[in-house]
Amino acid sequence: MESQPAPVEDERRRIARTDVVMADPRLAEAAGRLGHGLVKAAVVTAQRRARTGEIPPAAVADAAVEALPVTASGLRPVVNATGVLLHTNLGRAPLSAAAQDAVRVASGATDVELDLETGTRARRGRSVLAALLERVPAAEAAHVVNNGAAALVLAATALAAGKEIVIGRGEMVEIGDGFRIPELLAATGARLREVGTTNRTTPDDYAAAVGPETGFILKVHPSNFQVTGFTREAEVAELAGLGVPVVADIGSGLLAPEPLLPDEPDAATRLAAGAGLVTASGDKLLGGPQCGIVLGREDLVRRLARHPLARALRVDKMTLAALEATLRGPHTPTHEALHADVAVLRERAERLADRLRADGVDARAVGSDAAVGGGGAPGVVLPSAAVSLPEPYAARLRQGVPAVMGRVEDGRCLLDLRAVPAEQDAAVARAVRAAGGR
Ligand SMILES: *Cc1c(COP(=O)(O)O)cnc(C)c1O
Repeated sequence: MESQPAPVEDERRRIARTDVVMADPRLAEAAGRLGHGLVKAAVVTAQRRARTGEIPPAAVADAAVEALPVTASGLRPVVNATGVLLHTNLGRAPLSAAAQDAVRVASGATDVELDLETGTRARRGRSVLAALLERVPAAEAAHVVNNGAAALVLAATALAAGKEIVIGRGEMVEIGDGFRIPELLAATGARLREVGTTNRTTPDDYAAAVGPETGFILKVHPSNFQVTGFTREAEVAELAGLGVPVVADIGSGLLAPEPLLPDEPDAATRLAAGAGLVTASGDKLLGGPQCGIVLGREDLVRRLARHPLARALRVDKMTLAALEATLRGPHTPTHEALHADVAVLRERAERLADRLRADGVDARAVGSDAAVGGGGAPGVVLPSAAVSLPEPYAARLRQGVPAVMGRVEDGRCLLDLRAVPAEQDAAVARAVRAAGGR
């Protein structure tokens, strides 16, 4: 007599084996593109869902295809609808299409240290350094490191190890995530010579502290907070004549004044005022890849670039490519977002909301306040427009592909369009429809 198999056994038998599912042409293609392991993981997950009855056994291959990652990396594409232009958790500045292309080309074998004309070794990063000097004629020389913090570390090590860095007490700042500039500097072996008070520091305070022990005077832009009221800050021009270099950490990476952000310092103005060096980040308002930029006097830049530590802080070829394309290419997405016309943003929000309402989504266009973010331009409000949705959309949109990251305000999910390139509007509409249908 044959015994009847239990129904659950029967179900299990109908779920195709992993190697059989993997033979699906779509999954076989994906295995070539993403690697066997990632595709197998998606298949195993789909089989588990079939075993628990969540999906029918016949849907395993489809479910696996749908669950495949976009790339072989865990990093997923996100539409930044937060209204924060430089969102730290979203990787700060998005690269322009020109910079993305340059990265793709440079990611293979490339002439980063080779002169193809002569076939001999060439200076690494020569064309990006030339691009920096073209954009900032006031700089005699330039150097690029991993990030803004690395630029400071290299300056402190090369110019002030065993010596003093004179810094105003109002500029002893924390960049974020617990990282404090004074601690970073002290870690290099330089001694900090604090002058003035939190709210007031005069040129005389610096003059009294400068002496044979001084490596340089450091001016740090307090980029993520404001001190108002009874304040006094010594300007670079007032310190340039004290006989020691002035290093100006401007943070944001503006190369020239930006009329929309009059309180943000820029490299050209600081150098013209007499700074010996300017340090900045590449992925803030400059709108490029993560890197640290050093601009200034030839002799000082050379001391940094020739210091043994420079090798440990150097950037890779993809960063060099992205930075140069950012400097030479069309306006960056960050520039476009900063300069977006609020009337155009409002039209886009209304058009999107109209389309979504026609699909039965509770969507409306609303005014919104955007911000620069990334620890830059505190207190600056950028008028913007958003599509307002019921709050549960926030989590569902975040988990879609691409993920759409809005912000929750007053019980609504706002999709602020200032940092969303117009060509992503259709993708946003699709994502909202998909999120509503779940
Ligand atoms: C952001 C910032 C830094 C740190 O730059 P990273 O590129 O994040 O390392 C240093 N100083 C100032 C003034 C900044 O705004």
